[in-house]
Amino acid sequence: MAATTEFQHTVAKTAGFSGTSLHTGEKVSLKLQPAPIDHGIKFKRKDLQDEPTIDAKIDNLKTVERATTIGEGSVRVHTVEHILAALSAMGVDNAIVEMDANEPPIGDGSAAAYVDLIKRAGIAAQEAARKFFQVREPTHIETKTGSILVLLPSDEFRISCTQAGPNNRFTQYLSTEITSAIFEKEIAPARTFVYYEDVEPLMEKNLIKGGSLENAVVVRGDAVLSKEPLRFADEFVRHKILDIVGDLALVGGRVRGHVIAVKPGHAANAELARVLAREQARRTALAVPKILPRGEGGFDSEQIMQILPHRYPFLMVDRIIGFEGETKCIGLKSVTINEPFFQGHFPGHPVMPGVMQVEAMAQVASLLLFKLAKTTGRIGYFMSADDVKFRKPVFPGDTMFIHAELTKHRGERLAKAKCHCVVNDAVVSEGELMFTFLDR
Ligand SMILES: [Zn+2]
Repeated sequence: MAATTEFQHTVAKTAGFSGTSLHTGEKVSLKLQPAPIDHGIKFKRKDLQDEPTIDAKIDNLKTVERATTIGEGSVRVHTVEHILAALSAMGVDNAIVEMDANEPPIGDGSAAAYVDLIKRAGIAAQEAARKFFQVREPTHIETKTGSILVLLPSDEFRISCTQAGPNNRFTQYLSTEITSAIFEKEIAPARTFVYYEDVEPLMEKNLIKGGSLENAVVVRGDAVLSKEPLRFADEFVRHKILDIVGDLALVGGRVRGHVIAVKPGHAANAELARVLAREQARRTALAVPKILPRGEGGFDSEQIMQILPHRYPFLMVDRIIGFEGETKCIGLKSVTINEPFFQGHFPGHPVMPGVMQVEAMAQVASLLLFKLAKTTGRIGYFMSADDVKFRKPVFPGDTMFIHAELTKHRGERLAKAKCHCVVNDAVVSEGELMFTFLDR
């Protein structure tokens, strides 16, 4: 389930629409255009000289007051969250959003107009794998204003959200998976809502010239003012979910994880996107193939099998990368989805059993001992494992580096090794193993 390959998509053809921009109240035309593989979403300011583009990336985030603004240099694009939510949820990875103003049309305050636009343009698959951000471990962020966002590992993109207004008025909760079908029907139509006390000063300062009851639901006290009745009894929390999808799109990859959001807002959403993007960048940097020494320095799998009696599926080391002096060595194991233990550990959420990591440590330590003893005439018996700790889950696709260091080596009959396994530069497990040697 976790390893399904999906293709990147762009729009099949150019499509556009026009409307009013929220902050300036001016007319704006927007065109959605196809873009090549790995292009991502970029906004193009057709109204400016040289038509500059801005990457929809968290690094370009400028402000999060009331709406999400991105920019590069002095060029800005405001209120990008609704169109980004629609593109991301409807499965558009690559596109150019061309506009002749600094803000997309607000539409009716929801993402419905953008979903329509994407459907009119059509979606076309491209010959490259879609980028996913698989959440590996729980993360959370908290803001001073009381927003809490927790992100948990999950194979689906799910958002569980609690929204609460001032004095906990209009407290609403919804948990939903985000698929294109669900987004289109259940989330995209939910409109922006504002509290009268928040917008009153803005209206006085003329900062929301395009704002009206046609593009926002206004809450005044316990009353809900809008041109048309609420579209859902819990329309507010749905819109909060819409904003989370849009802000998280700035990560630049599809999130596979479960977001639990309490009183979210653009600032909190952006903060989470930033944490994810940082983690994503760290992983990408580590994913660069390393050139591993072969031959002299280490053992290949043939050499390993001449020493160890273990065979697939119990051979837990593919290669010994190298030895350091007499007492240290590093082995490597590529953990693939084909390992038989993933079948039952666990269906739908494959993680490598900890005991298999201990087995990998034992095998690497044995190889080290054999090299030291310069004989394979003896057989090592694994006697005990102390201080074993499993720190992080190991998933299919991970490359596990197994480090072993001999700490005691008495009379060539008894040996102790300190071992640890590393994935993506983080220790995933560790333990101290003891062996005894007997003649074969
Ligand atoms: Zn919004």
